[in-house]
Amino acid sequence: MKRAIFPGTFDPFTIGHYSIVERGLSFFDEIIIGIGLNNTKKTLFSVEKRLDLIQQAYELETRVKVMSYNSLTVDFALSVHSDYVLRGLRSVGDFEYERTIADANRKLTGIETVILFTESKYSYISSTVARELISYGKDITAFLPPNVKI
Ligand code: ADP
Repeated sequence: MKRAIFPGTFDPFTIGHYSIVERGLSFFDEIIIGIGLNNTKKTLFSVEKRLDLIQQAYELETRVKVMSYNSLTVDFALSVHSDYVLRGLRSVGDFEYERTIADANRKLTGIETVILFTESKYSYISSTVARELISYGKDITAFLPPNVKI
């Protein structure tokens, strides 16, 4: 059974993230979405709310699980018996960061990172822009996966 983790901050989980998971399910049997709590980023949404929003998106999908973790991402992967990290790439800007982390993770543990390029229709979607819109009282339903309500 091929299991991947999809780690991130997901503040909030967007339709861009959702699309990466959907595509990942075509070659992974199970994907565990991991909300990483070990960084110093201050988030808009509490971890409970972030879990709830992701669970709403996957109510009917038994191959997707959602957890939070408070450790190194590779240690989280090992703890759930996953050999793969799934990530999405929007732009050249994401590239160097992703490559460095992927290299470190592989050297530390042998865990491979699988990176999918974003679908171009979602390349402008980011949690940062979603939070910005919220701060101006705008509706962000179009940024969220189907069937998810803030
Ligand atoms: P992190 O803080 O780890 O970057 P994010 O929640 O911002 O966490 O993102 C998690 C993953 O999803 C990253 O690999 C990021 O590049 C990817 N991602 C974010 N937005 C999109 C998008 N619109 N399309 C594809 N991948 C995306």
